[in-house]
Amino acid sequence: MEAPLDALIVGAGFGGLAAAIECRDHGLKHIEIIDAASGVGGTWRLNTYPGAACDVPSHLYSYSFAQRRDWKSLCPAQPDILSYIEDVVREKGLHGLITPDTRATACSWDQDSALWTTTTNTGRSISSRVVILATGQLHQASTPDIEGADDFAGEMFHSAEWNHDINLANKRVAVVGTGASAVQFVPEVAETAAHLDVYQRSGNWFMPRRNRSYPKPLALAIRWIPGVQTFRRGFVFRYGEALTLMIRHPRTWGLLGRLRSTLFMRWQLKDPVLRTKLWPDYTFGCKRVLFSSFFLPALQQPNVDLQTDAISRITATGIVTSDGVEHDTDVLIWATGFRTQDFMFPMKITGRSGKRLEDMWATGSHAHLGITVPEFPSLFIMYGPNTNTSGGSILVFLEAQARYIRQAILATTSRRAAAVEVKTEVELQSDVDTQSAFEGTAWVRCHSWYRPSEGRVVNNWPLYMSDYLQLTAQFDPDEFDFISVPGS
Ligand code: NAP
Repeated sequence: MEAPLDALIVGAGFGGLAAAIECRDHGLKHIEIIDAASGVGGTWRLNTYPGAACDVPSHLYSYSFAQRRDWKSLCPAQPDILSYIEDVVREKGLHGLITPDTRATACSWDQDSALWTTTTNTGRSISSRVVILATGQLHQASTPDIEGADDFAGEMFHSAEWNHDINLANKRVAVVGTGASAVQFVPEVAETAAHLDVYQRSGNWFMPRRNRSYPKPLALAIRWIPGVQTFRRGFVFRYGEALTLMIRHPRTWGLLGRLRSTLFMRWQLKDPVLRTKLWPDYTFGCKRVLFSSFFLPALQQPNVDLQTDAISRITATGIVTSDGVEHDTDVLIWATGFRTQDFMFPMKITGRSGKRLEDMWATGSHAHLGITVPEFPSLFIMYGPNTNTSGGSILVFLEAQARYIRQAILATTSRRAAAVEVKTEVELQSDVDTQSAFEGTAWVRCHSWYRPSEGRVVNNWPLYMSDYLQLTAQFDPDEFDFISVPGS
């Protein structure tokens, strides 16, 4: 067993790195970040599909403390985001803290020593006073269980595990799913594939996003005129809040978003038959609004067909839809999203009374501010339950969580306590408040990856970014119990 760390951070994506910087800058000396991947970046390392980019403008989709004035366009491409993350790691001198190729498999609290022990797939047993789980919500590829999929003789992969060895030229390609990932790579695949079938289960609301490179004068203004970058960051923040306003008020403000989307989609979809097939049957903003000016035109290219009949089964050579037609397929790409309810699982997390987190969350995950859970002392979650945003930048949330966690840790050490644990009644009330804040919003008007079944919304934050910033700004020690150092 190694000497206890001040903090073990699981995940070297935007969240884990923010936590490491925040904790180290406030005096924590012994920190280690482990990541299952071979390097930093999290989702931005793993998702390399053609056209991968962030549809949240880079001015806000970047750390507040590491702003750049040389982004090439409003929404940066995946390689640019990954190299930004790598630059931050270098600038902040984090390399020595990061252990790649190491997956946490289990994590358990020991009451006698008041320490966490985390075991890894590399055979390590890491002891720490604090564990920060920064594994995110979008890292476990989800592939539907469709009859015959195992018999498929062609190439098959998930969008988050893109197989770059396969040349799609002259191939008949099938893409299943039409979410945020698919809309980014379908236009690229349509350019190369001989034929492309796009299988859609539900239509989506679209907004324009061309993302051309910045014209030179604007690029120069951002770079050299003080305040331009800051102004743009503030503008994007307010734009995100406005989108949230529309999602929160679907009968009023939401109609404006719906109108904008309707005009855009009608303009892009001249063919009434295709338009009917693509038109969403749910409230604007219930599922993620998709920002793309290229997806709907791509579907209208002669080599592309939109398939809206359900998939019945898969054969060795193709996909059979409910109308009985078999569509010949050489390459099948799943764009079917992620197991978003799994959070850090299958990692086994055992808390103070021997309870497992997965059992406590069996009827739906919840945590105080998405960060802390009763009976799991000094265990903090980043991008946990109810902290996803449909109308903002997750970076705003991650930085807020890092600051809150740092305050919790410092409050523990300043009291000479061993650990800190949220009070059960505080967490339960915060869950009630969170769920009731969804009432009347677009989020509860359909099923989505935020709300897979009737009832609670598990993934999303129901209010504005500014609310989350306010609620997490000041750690309140009265909401927590402090656990004494053993033997004291
Ligand atoms: P997703 O949004 O969950 O989309 C999955 C797609 O697969 C949906 O169209 C879904 O249809 C379909 N699907 C799922 N199971 C299916 C089945 N059994 N049969 C047929 N279709 C099925 O996944 P994603 O596109 O990978 O995006 C996930 C999240 O990642 C996004 O919501 C976003 O938060 C994030 N993301 C962000 C960006 C960005 O630019 N910031 C880019 C990519 C991804 P239904 O709609 O009917 O469920």
